[in-house]
Amino acid sequence: MIHHATVDFLRPSSSSELAGIFADAQAAGKTISLRGGGNCYGETPLNDGGMVLDMTALDRVLAWDPAVGIARVEPGVTIEKLWETVVGDGYWPAVVPGTMKVTVGGACSLDIHGKNHFALGSFRDHVLSLKLMTTDGEILHCSATENQDVFDHVLGGLGLLGCLTEIELKLKKVSSGQVDVEPIVVDSFAHMTEVMEGLSSTSDYLVGWHDGFAAGDKVGRGLIHRANHPKEGDDAFFDVKKQGLPSTLLGVVPRSWMWWGLWFFLNKPGMRFINYLKFLSGKRNEKKGVHRQGLAAFHFLLDYVPHWKKSYKPGGLIQFQSFVPKDRAAQVFEDLLRLCQRRNLPPYLVVTKRHFETKSLLPYAVDGFSQALDIRVTKKNRGRVENLVREMEEIVFAASGRFYLAKDGMMTPESFRRYVDKDRLEAFRELKARLDPRGVLQSDLSRRLKILSDH
Ligand SMILES: Cc1cc2nc3c(=O)[nH]c(=O)nc-3n(C[C@H](O)[C@H](O)[C@H](O)COP(=O)(O)OP(=O)(O)OC[C@H]3O[C@@H](n4cnc5c(N)ncnc54)[C@H](O)[C@@H]3O)c2cc1C
Repeated sequence: MIHHATVDFLRPSSSSELAGIFADAQAAGKTISLRGGGNCYGETPLNDGGMVLDMTALDRVLAWDPAVGIARVEPGVTIEKLWETVVGDGYWPAVVPGTMKVTVGGACSLDIHGKNHFALGSFRDHVLSLKLMTTDGEILHCSATENQDVFDHVLGGLGLLGCLTEIELKLKKVSSGQVDVEPIVVDSFAHMTEVMEGLSSTSDYLVGWHDGFAAGDKVGRGLIHRANHPKEGDDAFFDVKKQGLPSTLLGVVPRSWMWWGLWFFLNKPGMRFINYLKFLSGKRNEKKGVHRQGLAAFHFLLDYVPHWKKSYKPGGLIQFQSFVPKDRAAQVFEDLLRLCQRRNLPPYLVVTKRHFETKSLLPYAVDGFSQALDIRVTKKNRGRVENLVREMEEIVFAASGRFYLAKDGMMTPESFRRYVDKDRLEAFRELKARLDPRGVLQSDLSRRLKILSDH
């Protein structure tokens, strides 16, 4: 979240309008990038000097059948609208990210994961079929039995192969609108991987938080939150109003003002204090044991503070998320955190998760763990952050790790080439040449990393 672009911004509200824009862009030799909710940390939806199509006006739920748990939606439908549509019938999206402001189109294009990647796979595993408009205006119907190669690769295709216009999804039946959440204190990354590994076959969700400022023998200390759908739940929580996040903090401060409070603490002493408090309160909560929480409150923590990105202004932040095979992960995560601390760039937020290999042509996850480090970027420290990123990449590559383009803001084409399988990249480019021969769909990210060509 450090990138800017000057673009022609358009917001089509129908497929025919979309086809018209593609035709005009081809005629004028312009490039286009597609944008969902704009929640990528990098520049996948940006296209400096070209056009950006905001897809959020195509936001209708076209069909929802609670008898089978299948929904057909337009790409601009947000995860928020999706869960609000289905929760009353006892369903929940099978995979959700940390914010409900993500659109289904954006979730498909980056093949996002949730806190249950180890259990239910990534977003693509719950897509039954889709419609894709190519830049020639042709609509392709894609599923496991029709246009299968397009279906397979457009999920995780970074919005570069065509524009999704309809998506059919399988939702997950849940016993309750709440989950039983168990906080577990861990004293190191090795402890985290051991606990998560041990619990993965009996947990619906697992996510780790770590104190980014804890050093010496305390490095890696943190909390795992394990959550399970209860066998029997309270039907009241199938009510959308019960799920909603509170509109005020402590009944007084409106949520829309909270980013001001966050801004006040967004410096090293402030975040050291907050990380320390969170760890202490986690220890207290562990003693209290399992507690029930609404599904929205459990999943969408950052949505408690709307506009939280503003609190990082005037600079921004990068998230360095690495995916490392399970036997190497603990050591790599410890090395990365110690390195950030040594370079005096401690991460303000550290999150870990358990994953399996993702199946897209440009996969990011491995059978192992991920660690996401949020690092503040200012005008003054930007060069130092870039140097740090280069050093951290070396540690991850030495352990055969990978990166996630939804979160990347500073990778170089050389680094991209080091973890991406050459044959898969070639296959991606061949598909691109077939579906978008004039290369209309591009983004600042595709150009920075030379995804579409080596030049
Ligand atoms: C607070 C926060 C928490 C997050 N947590 C997670 C997490 O837990 N797991 C995870 O995996 N990710 C997470 N993310 C990242 C986020 O889920 C992804 O970046 C997601 O792709 C963003 O979707 P979006 O709708 O905001 O789309 P954008 O960011 O606007 O665009 C994302 C991509 O989708 C493409 N796209 C958009 N619409 C279409 C369309 N109609 N057809 C084809 N392509 C399209 C764009 O071209 C672009 O490549 C998080 C992000 C934030 C800000």
